Amino acid sequence: MFAAPPTGNDQRCAVVVAAYRERRSAVTPTLTPTKPVPPSAADRCDRCGAQAKVRVVLSGGDLVFCGHHARAYDATIRTVAREVVPSESAN
Ligand SMILES: [Zn+2]
Repeated sequence: MFAAPPTGNDQRCAVVVAAYRERRSAVTPTLTPTKPVPPSAADRCDRCGAQAKVRVVLSGGDLVFCGHHARAYDATIRTVAREVVPSESAN
């Protein structure tokens, strides 16, 4: 079997791939994931405004909850959270 001769589409694909590789190589790998920090004493529950005891890291951002609301939403938090960071003073 012989390979099909290149067509206009193959050449355009090669140009797109070359441009992609050039752009990809131009990106410097300086992004490092930041470790989520525990809620501070100044952080307030996003539900009621009490002092936050838990930071819930979601795909789109963070939420902080007091102990009461962390317990109230525990089942949901466990299903959607990427990470849960307790306050350093939580007991
Ligand atoms: Zn609360």
